[in-house]
Amino acid sequence: MKDINWDRAFTIYFDLEKGISDERKPIQRRLSDLKGIFYDTESLELMLKDNNPLIYEFFDLGPPENPGDLAFGTSIVYPGKVGNEYFMTKGHFHSILETAEIYYCLSGKGYMLMENPEGDWDAKEMTPGKVVYVPKRYAHRSINTGNVPLVTFFAFRADAGHDYGTIETNGYKKLLVETDGKVEIIDNPKWISCK
Ligand code: ZN
Repeated sequence: MKDINWDRAFTIYFDLEKGISDERKPIQRRLSDLKGIFYDTESLELMLKDNNPLIYEFFDLGPPENPGDLAFGTSIVYPGKVGNEYFMTKGHFHSILETAEIYYCLSGKGYMLMENPEGDWDAKEMTPGKVVYVPKRYAHRSINTGNVPLVTFFAFRADAGHDYGTIETNGYKKLLVETDGKVEIIDNPKWISCK
């Protein structure tokens, strides 16, 4: 695994089905890393007694944090639920709020759930071939509502930075849960407005 020189052209391989690159090590988030993210804490603790499943992983190539560089990689969210809430990523704002991001869905299916500090929100369905444009100022979270891994390719301004703390503290306004075998978007009873 060689260091990348971001001032030179380079190529890197990603498997379009699995999202994996054998040239880099992914960052992994297990259920125990996501306490406080899923609303059904009782189900989460019960699940943790049995095992600590891998919920998602992503590739961060560590670009220099310059406005002219691009951060990119893949994200893989595994299928499953905590209680009736689908497996998902922590979700984050960008530290530089005025920066957008794109997510191109490679395989699987799910949703990109977005909200801004004013409490406006949106959810866009992701299926292979669809690109979701996450506009500036919107926190974003990938949610797997299918039975196979949800794989996306992302790209954003390399100096944007990640603010995970706001979502960890305030939660998302909306939750995606399964009701009678269907995806339902409900209000999060624990949500705290940023305003
Ligand atoms: Zn982002």
